[in-house]
Amino acid sequence: MAEKQKVFVDVDTQRDFLDVAGALHVPRSDEIRPNLRRLTQCAIERGFPIIATACAHTLDDEELQHFPPHCLVGTEGQSRIPETVVADAVVLGVDARLEGEPPRHLTLEKREYDVFSRPDATAIMARYNKDKPTFVVYGVATDYCVRAVVLGLLERRMDVAIVVDAIRAIDAAREPALLTEFARKGAMLTTTDHVCRAPKTVS
Ligand SMILES: [Zn+2]
Repeated sequence: MAEKQKVFVDVDTQRDFLDVAGALHVPRSDEIRPNLRRLTQCAIERGFPIIATACAHTLDDEELQHFPPHCLVGTEGQSRIPETVVADAVVLGVDARLEGEPPRHLTLEKREYDVFSRPDATAIMARYNKDKPTFVVYGVATDYCVRAVVLGLLERRMDVAIVVDAIRAIDAAREPALLTEFARKGAMLTTTDHVCRAPKTVS
């Protein structure tokens, strides 16, 4: 039997969240950077699409009333960390719309932490869901952007796996309860090793 197709969802792995000096550093997120690199390389080598999400804020964004200013458009902090940069990614700005076939590597910019705040996000995810792949989700932060992606995909009846050793929460104490919530709602919990190990060859 052929291996089940995967679509990787790389959530907000931007400098302002993962760099220790970033504007909204997620505690201990530096620890997951080797796994983020491995996941990115594995997707590229095995031809899995990567849908990346990215905060792209301006100072008047409503989200910045609740969080310190971060990922401001045009700043270094808004860019992805080197571990998750994909050279040929098509970046779709907040007001841009996807034309033609979905690219293998797509970055969706957003002005709220929930990627589904983009009016076109549901339709875009549906286009990547044609062969019913597993959406393999990782990044930051577990308690905000990652949670919104996971629950949003599950609500849309898509198959979801969370890479538990490639996520970090702003409030680390909440992570066990969040993982329980994700699993209870139907997400699989997986690891970088499990996702990236070589596929079994069937003889
Ligand atoms: Zn944001």
